[in-house]
Amino acid sequence: MKRQQMFINGKWIDSVSGEAREIINPFNQDVIAIVTEGDKSDAHMAIEAARNAFDEGEWTNTPANERGYKLFKVAEKIQQQKDELARLESLDTGKTLTESIADMDDITGVFRYFAGLADKDGGEMIESPIPNSTSKVVREPVGVCSQISPWNYPLLQASWKIAPALAAGNTIVIKPSEITPLTTIKITEILEEVGFPNGVVNLVLGAGTTVGQEMAENHDVDLVSFTGGIETGRKIMNAATGNMKKIAFELGGKNPNIVFADADFETAVDQALNAVYFHAGQVCSAGSRLLVEDSIHDQFVDALVERAGKIRLGNGFDEKTESGPLISKEHRSKVEEYVEIGKDEGAKLVIGGKRPEDPELASGFFYLPTIFTECENDMRIVQEEIFGPVLTVERFKSENEVVKRANSTTYGLAGAVFTTDSRKAERVANKLRLGTVWINDFHPYFAQAPWGGYKQSGIGRELGKQGLEEYTEVKHIFENH
Ligand code: NAD
Repeated sequence: MKRQQMFINGKWIDSVSGEAREIINPFNQDVIAIVTEGDKSDAHMAIEAARNAFDEGEWTNTPANERGYKLFKVAEKIQQQKDELARLESLDTGKTLTESIADMDDITGVFRYFAGLADKDGGEMIESPIPNSTSKVVREPVGVCSQISPWNYPLLQASWKIAPALAAGNTIVIKPSEITPLTTIKITEILEEVGFPNGVVNLVLGAGTTVGQEMAENHDVDLVSFTGGIETGRKIMNAATGNMKKIAFELGGKNPNIVFADADFETAVDQALNAVYFHAGQVCSAGSRLLVEDSIHDQFVDALVERAGKIRLGNGFDEKTESGPLISKEHRSKVEEYVEIGKDEGAKLVIGGKRPEDPELASGFFYLPTIFTECENDMRIVQEEIFGPVLTVERFKSENEVVKRANSTTYGLAGAVFTTDSRKAERVANKLRLGTVWINDFHPYFAQAPWGGYKQSGIGRELGKQGLEEYTEVKHIFENH
């Protein structure tokens, strides 16, 4: 198996240490690739290349519309290669091929959106209070950007960072999760084919504690954009203080899904399942915390349990599969620990709570769709992100009560309200302290709308015009005539 390399200053290279890492398919534990394992010195070299490229200014001084054209070319190549990219993503993450293909279409959309946005902000003249003067506000690239992404949506999360950073004229050092690097390697090949000046795009591979730590600490970095867990976020935030670099964080979630008694029952059941079991619950915006109005609670739970028991687990490449495995042995152990915590806390396990018995799934990291009822607000399984196929269900009696409870976590990423009363939907949506609120739906997101978290779910926004602004500094130019 050919060892896959890092891309630094326009060249594909092995790590200085010569170390390598095996990449595993979580469906059957097959080794699907071997990649070079970088460390601090490789990250240092990549950052130096990005710093030099930024300071030389060739990319930054490329007219914004031409930067956009390049990104359109990237989008076209992603579309042309989407089957191959999707296949790699499913091999690496275990997610269904259908989901991975949809991801590749979304990623194409992200590149197209930021390509189009690249030349739309020409700055603005503002009214100067000083006679005989003019005042202009412009946006400029931030500089060298460290971009650190997670394993659950490897290429999607990386593209939310790469596309706006390049559109704004920055130089970048990308680090995918060490367990799912394959599609990020592939997109770096695409970026190389499209052609950016040396050092503008750099890819480093390796662990967060070595490569990632250097990317957060190094004083030549101007901004670190990170998507991942909250504890990692804290470490990166601390490491970034040395030179006060800017930070942009997309962290976890414990996302409330509120179902009122007047909701369309079938839609709410469908979406409650989709909310939590999509990608086996390994989604930052998973609707893992369901709040159901008391009068329909029992009927709703019965419908959920009946359908959750029928979700087909399997190989992501099998068309009949509805859900793949969890990403790793360690991650499944974490989910299992939470299920034990739930039982100890007194929640009632009504389905799942174990691995599937099907021998064909025995080598994958599978876990059955799980539901706990009789959950209370202060339980850890209700408050903490499990990141697996585990749903907690709570009852509520009034609108005020449910809003208060939904807002009672440290997270604030996303959530939903199901009701046929549009005024109630709007009232509740306005009161929820969340970056995204869906009404009568769960999960839709697109490049045009900002994505990010209130409270400890994040800092800043990705996507939308705000996603481009994250990668800019604002300059005021005043001229005395
Ligand atoms: P993680 O925090 O373990 O790792 C994320 C990335 O950070 C990886 O590339 C890892 O190598 C790197 N890293 C780890 N330690 C580091 C350190 N000390 N310094 C620098 N980098 C370090 O997260 P994960 O397990 O890969 O992903 C799951 C988490 O990501 C969940 O909490 C999920 O909610 C979150 N997530 C959030 C969003 C969002 O949009 N808000 C999207 C996807 C995932």
